[in-house]
Amino acid sequence: MNITAIYPGTFDPVTNGHLDIIARAAKLYHKVIVAVAVNRNKQPLFDVDQRVALIGQVTTEFTNVEIIGFDNLLVDCAKQQEANVVLRGLRAISDFEYEFQLAGMNRRLFPELETMFLTPAEQYGFISSSMIKEIARLGGDVSAFVPDNVLQRLIEKFNRG
Ligand code: ADP
Repeated sequence: MNITAIYPGTFDPVTNGHLDIIARAAKLYHKVIVAVAVNRNKQPLFDVDQRVALIGQVTTEFTNVEIIGFDNLLVDCAKQQEANVVLRGLRAISDFEYEFQLAGMNRRLFPELETMFLTPAEQYGFISSSMIKEIARLGGDVSAFVPDNVLQRLIEKFNRG
């Protein structure tokens, strides 16, 4: 069976942790759809088109990875994309409770869609987009945690004004 996985998130912005998960998934699944949530209530730093573009620029080596934006219910997006699996990353125990609840809810909404979890390499386990933004905003060096294109956009955002 050719399994299509959908990897949803806000990706505001994409980090080396997300990229580690994408690289692992690209080896496991026939097709991986990175689905970037518009997520208005999180008030993202980058708009959805920028977030999609930034991921696209750093995933060109993976021929089976596709990036899309979405603004509807994840299970509906998964159905439209004919995905069999929802992929989420687990960093620490602190992620577990929310992810467990989300997986349970998605199963009730769409029982055929399985949630699968991947863990990143240990050097990425403490990276989060929100922490990256906070460090960059305060002038800290985040070059070890994000790809170069994201680093440039963060510098542009926070050096302005
Ligand atoms: P969301 O708002 O849906 O949590 P994120 O962009 O923060 O979106 O994360 C998307 C997914 O990637 C989530 O499953 C999250 O746990 C996972 N993730 C985030 N950062 C990392 C990381 N450093 N390593 C592995 N997985 C991660």
